[in-house]
Amino acid sequence: YQAKRGGVRVGWYDAARDLASTDRLSLLAEVREALAVDDQLTLVLQPAVRLGEGGGVTGVEALVRWNHPRRGTLMPDDFVTVIEHSELLGDFTRYVLDRALAVAAGWATEGLDVPIAVNLSPRSLLDATLPADIAALLDLHGVRPDRLVLEITETVVMSELSVIDDVLSALRELGVQFAVDDFGTGYSSLTFLTRVAVDEVKIDRAFVRGMVESAGAAAIVRTTVDLAHRLGLRVIAEGVETAEQRAVLTALGCTGAQGYFFHPPMPPERIVEVLHGLTDAEVVPLRQEGAG
Ligand code: C2E
Ligand code: MG
Ligand code: MG
Ligand code: MG
Repeated sequence: YQAKRGGVRVGWYDAARDLASTDRLSLLAEVREALAVDDQLTLVLQPAVRLGEGGGVTGVEALVRWNHPRRGTLMPDDFVTVIEHSELLGDFTRYVLDRALAVAAGWATEGLDVPIAVNLSPRSLLDATLPADIAALLDLHGVRPDRLVLEITETVVMSELSVIDDVLSALRELGVQFAVDDFGTGYSSLTFLTRVAVDEVKIDRAFVRGMVESAGAAAIVRTTVDLAHRLGLRVIAEGVETAEQRAVLTALGCTGAQGYFFHPPMPPERIVEVLHGLTDAEVVPLRQEGAG
């Protein structure tokens, strides 16, 4: 994943070199096929919960899985990088958005008003047709724009391209929300927060993992929570696995948390059960007072 690997421009090509080019080409042929048939590429969903104030789900993140006919279940890290460096990225991104919005539309018919978050490849922000595509998909599924959260990260290449700003502002005008994913790593930086008016900051799980033993990681988490509050943004900690981490994050005033400690990613059927298990008061409104 280029955003996590650091490095400069070369990072774009680096990741694609992970696979020999023949493997990459056959994988891409299989992706093309998977995009054309049902049920190979599926979404699992992971809730984020509010810390303190009685808990409750603040949103649900869609994570792609590939039920490959021969290779078994592939995780995003096994194939998303290859797609990102191919001409299939646009089709893949629309496919995931379409599936996620279909899920959200289903929730709405069951009276569940929960926002859904979709991960965007940084490269998707170079695609000038993305805002119109997203507008059409929201319309098709009848999902309110502010029920869609786009999780984005930055890369160094982006900082030089003004097309990104056009795409971001067109999406902003649509009324969708933005979360900065993996904050504190790669180029998900302070500068990025000034470039796009985001609604949410997600603290990378590396800092959450290190928080209890490492004063440095703890300081980064504390500072990020403070920064987000000062900017009027929600802040969600990723990868929370222990009660101790939850306690520290709650004490720091972190808005929400996501991780195996609360809920693993799960299939759409299961998540409906989880959401129905909550009372109305537990499904908390997405926007914080004063945010956005
Ligand atoms: P991410 O957006 O930061 O997603 C969070 C990752 O952390 C997910 O891995 C999730 O399963 C995992 N996770 C959740 N709770 C815990 C925990 O308590 N501990 C640990 N160790 N991990 C936890 P996953 O599903 O393998 O996704 C990896 C990355 O792939 C995502 O990172 C995201 O950047 C990317 N990705 C996933 N789905 C999509 C997609 O549809 N499109 C694009 N472009 N990228 C995607
Ligand atoms: Mg994410
Ligand atoms: Mg993340
Ligand atoms: Mg990520």
